[in-house]
Amino acid sequence: MTESDFSILRQALVESLVEEGVIRSKIVKEAMLKVPREEFVPIHLRHYAYEDTPLPIGYGQTISAPHMVALMCEEAQLAPGMRVLEIGTGSGYHAAVIAEIVGPKGAVYSIERLAELSSFARRNLARTGYLDRVTLIIGDGSMGYPPAAPYDRIIVTAAAPEVPPPLIDQLARNGIMVIPVGDRFNQILYVVRKKSDGSLEYRTVTPCLFVPLIGRHGWDS
Ligand code: SAH
Repeated sequence: MTESDFSILRQALVESLVEEGVIRSKIVKEAMLKVPREEFVPIHLRHYAYEDTPLPIGYGQTISAPHMVALMCEEAQLAPGMRVLEIGTGSGYHAAVIAEIVGPKGAVYSIERLAELSSFARRNLARTGYLDRVTLIIGDGSMGYPPAAPYDRIIVTAAAPEVPPPLIDQLARNGIMVIPVGDRFNQILYVVRKKSDGSLEYRTVTPCLFVPLIGRHGWDS
C-alpha cells in the first residue's frame, strides 16, 4: 500500500467518525487527518491501520481504536498551547495526535512503564516529526510526573481501579482529566474537571475497555 492509499483510507475513517458524532471539532478532525496511524502499528499490521479497532503492539499491549483516541481528545477539550500529560505511551500515536493539536507552543509529556514500548514510540514519533513536542518518560504513570506539573490536561490510556490521587494533585485548576475507571474487563470513561476553586466535578461518558494501568495506584500486575 502506498502513502496515498493510506491517506485515502485515513480520510474515509475520519469522515465516518464525523458522521458517527465522535469527532465534533475542527481541531480534532484536522489532527486525525494529519497523523499517519500506519506509522505507529507493527509493519505486518499496517494494512489494518484504518480499521476502527485496537491493534496489538507487542508486550500484551494495544494501540487504542481511532474512535477512542478522537473521543478522548474531544472530551479533554484540547487547545493549542496546552501542557498535557499522557499516561500509557504505547505506540506513541495518541501522543502524536495530542502534539498535533497543542501545536509548537504546547507540550506533551507521556509516561510508559515498559521501556521497550517507549523506544518503539520514540522511533515512531521521530519518524513522523513529533518528537520535539513530546517528552517520553519511562516509569509508573499512576504517580504522574511531578517535575513538569501542573498539567492543563491529563489523558490516561490504561484502565485504573480508581482515579490516582497524584494525578488529581498534578491537574491544574480549570484542568480536565480523561480516564477509564473500573475493573479489569469493564470500565467507564470519566471526565474529571478541577474547578477554579480546586473542587472536582465528575462526569461519565461511555463504557470502554482498556489494558490495565499497572502501578502503585493501579493494579498489581
Ligand atoms: N496511548 C497508547 C495506547 C497505549 S495502551 C497508544 O496511542 O498507542 C496502554 C499503555 O499503558 C501500555 O503500553 C501499557 O504498558 C502502559 N501502562 C500500563 N500501566 C502503566 C503505568 N502505571 N504507567 C505508565 N504506563 C503504563
